[in-house]
Amino acid sequence: MGSRAGASCDAIVIGGGLVGTAIACGLAEQGLKTRLLDEGDTANRASRGNFGLVWVQSKGLGAPHYHRWTRRSAAAWPDLARSLEARTGLDTALAQPGGMTFCLSDQEFAERAARMEQMRREAGNLGFEYRMLTREEVAAQLPSIGPAVIGASWTPYDGHVGALVLLHALHRAFRDLGGSYHPHAAVQSLHAMRNEFRVTAGDVQASAPRLVLAAGLGNATLAPLVGLSAPVRPERGQVLVTERARPLLPMPIVNIRQTAEGSLLIGESKEDAGFDSLTQTPGIMRDMARRAVLSFPWIADLNIVRAWSALRVMSADGLPIYDQSRSFPGAFLANCHSGVTLAAAHMRLLAPMIAAGELAPELLPFSADRFAHVHVTA
Ligand SMILES: Cc1cc2nc3c(=O)[nH]c(=O)nc-3n(C[C@H](O)[C@H](O)[C@H](O)COP(=O)(O)OP(=O)(O)OC[C@H]3O[C@@H](n4cnc5c(N)ncnc54)[C@H](O)[C@@H]3O)c2cc1C
Repeated sequence: MGSRAGASCDAIVIGGGLVGTAIACGLAEQGLKTRLLDEGDTANRASRGNFGLVWVQSKGLGAPHYHRWTRRSAAAWPDLARSLEARTGLDTALAQPGGMTFCLSDQEFAERAARMEQMRREAGNLGFEYRMLTREEVAAQLPSIGPAVIGASWTPYDGHVGALVLLHALHRAFRDLGGSYHPHAAVQSLHAMRNEFRVTAGDVQASAPRLVLAAGLGNATLAPLVGLSAPVRPERGQVLVTERARPLLPMPIVNIRQTAEGSLLIGESKEDAGFDSLTQTPGIMRDMARRAVLSFPWIADLNIVRAWSALRVMSADGLPIYDQSRSFPGAFLANCHSGVTLAAAHMRLLAPMIAAGELAPELLPFSADRFAHVHVTA
């Protein structure tokens, strides 16, 4: 894509994954002339390797501000999906039928029940609808569960989407809104002045009064250039994909979901593997498959046709980091572990705040200031 040396615009967003593209779309929707710069396809992109849940029920235990933010995003998702489809013709296959987390032992059930009740207490006036379902109640909704399932937690807020279609749709919508996207544009230099940022990336030179750092794990090195910090580290997750099957799962389970095309995705592993985003390990794949088969024995009859791993963008407490620079007003930062779930909030709630030049008070608890005394090694 062509670029003019030194071309000025209203906003530069660094990082063309789910977080940066959702924000860039939101800024363009606000009428800002926006440039989106991305390093390229060989980078460690969580946005191309995730599980595709729009998930609420486990988000924000002990952090009600995160729970509220997640709920707002889940509630804004239907409108996002509709408007992306109207603008791009791409169907993100959003379904929000509610979701379950299965419990395979009495201990898991007791721990889950305690967590869900704590979430309800902490939700306060917002309320939190959930149920701990007995095995019989789960079977009434999902008759093909295995004998190992002793119960489940359920909330009506959960759902899932086609995550790659979402990324594609956001990129297409961004272009349709007049934004300019520059792939193969790793940031080489970033000069911050008061209310002006000059970026050289690939063959692009751009300047703007607004800068958004949304480069995932890359934010850790970019943030200090504008007086911010992004203490994030990689956490690897692995995903298994089965051959396509007839519709068998009417709602997502936290570690198993059926895509609109019919494949089952099996996931939810977490490991510290540094920046190794490619390796898949037989032990973890076996454990994931085992739990899936305990949940639904018929999964054993399906062939695994694909598997991958990808790196999550993790802060020390697992919560997002949203920040604005005090030393360089106009510079903002966004990192999060659930960029699918939060896509609607990023486009429709966060971007307007950035366009207006200030984060709303509800986002101040997400500042990296909370880690001032914590040392995170990436
Ligand atoms: C296995 C797995 C399962 C997941 N499941 C879910 C789920 O079910 N639901 C959910 O909500 N979330 C899920 N996530 C998390 C979700 O995928 C991430 O939160 C989201 O993709 C993060 O997007 P991002 O744009 O911040 O990061 P990335 O996707 O990493 O994108 C960052 C981008 O920044 C670019 N970049 C980096 N450095 C530079 C630089 N110096 N210059 C220019 N560009 C740069 C890179 O090229 C990259 O494209 C999962 C993640 C994983 C790994």
